[in-house]
This record gives sequence, structure tokens and C-alpha cells, in this order.
Amino acid sequence: METTLIILKPDAVQRGFVGRIVTRFEEKGLQLVGLKLTTIAKTTAETHYAPHKERPFYPGLVRFMTSGPVVVVALKGVGAIAIARNLMGATFGSKAAPGTIRGDFGVSNAYNLIHGSDSPEAAEKELGLFFKKEELLDWTPVSQEWTYDMTGPKPE
Ligand code: UDP
Ligand code: MG
Repeated sequence: METTLIILKPDAVQRGFVGRIVTRFEEKGLQLVGLKLTTIAKTTAETHYAPHKERPFYPGLVRFMTSGPVVVVALKGVGAIAIARNLMGATFGSKAAPGTIRGDFGVSNAYNLIHGSDSPEAAEKELGLFFKKEELLDWTPVSQEWTYDMTGPKPE
């Protein structure tokens, strides 16, 4: 099992899509292990997007991410990182495929509604940046044995 960090960006909160976006992940079978409404400090946004520091869009991106409330979500599942990225769709709203979150809810390339970790290393770093240890809950959904085949050595 893997845990990934999702951010519902300020545009998703302002446009009232929090419930519908979280529902996409729940419907898929990913497990909520962390969830909170918060605003991101400038230094946190800068750290989070440090890999993009030299890109022309970086200052605007940091401004955007700190411009209003966000919802940070931790999602757990087998292959959760890649599954969440697929549900999100391509980076630019103008190009993202219908059926994906970015494809269905937006047209903008910068205001693209959602962030998701892109690797296990990024997920670990990002979960640590946005959640305290005790905010990530260890629990087993009653639905788990019908979400996965749990009869073997590992969930399938
Ligand atoms: N972004 C932007 N302009 C660009 C590329 C990216 O405003 O030309 C923003 C956009 O919000 C994107 C974020 O920067 O989600 C991080 O970019 P990345 O390429 O890592 O895309 P992601 O991993 O979010 O799909
Ligand atoms: Mg990225």
C-alpha cells in the first residue's frame, strides 16, 4: 500500500468542487487517511514547488497556491500515486482528457484544480510538509475486503 498527497488548489475550493473531487477518489476505492482545509504559507508553497524554482511560472504558481484556502488530502491504496495521477489527468486543463478531474472541471493551464505527488519520494516529502504524523490515520475501511481480493498474501 502506498500513500499519496493531493492538494485541492484554491480554484477548486473557490469554485465549490471539493466534494465532487474527493468523491472521484472515494468512488475509485482510494482510502482517505488525511483531510484538512488550510491555507498554505508562502515558505511551504516555495518548498513544495522547489523543483520548479527556475521556471517562469514559479512566482505566479506560489502566489496562486497561497491565494486562498486549499484542501490537503492523503490517499492510500495499492498504486495510489499513479492511480491518483491518472484520475487527475494531464497538467493543462485545456488538454486533459474528458473523464479526468482536470478534463471535466477546468479549461485553464495554470488554475488546474489539483496537485498529486508524482513519485514515492515526492509523496513522502509532501505528506511530511502538509500533515503532522498524528493527522494521518491508520484505519481499515469495512469495504476493504470487497475493494481488493484480500485472500492472498497481498491485496490484489
Ligand atoms: N504550471 C503552470 N504553467 C506551466 C506549467 C505548470 O502554471 O506552464 C503550474 C500548474 O498549476 C501545475 C504546476 O505548475 O500543476 C506544477 O507543474 P507540473 O509540471 O509539475 O504539473 P503537475 O505535476 O501538477 O501535473
Ligand atoms: Mg508535478
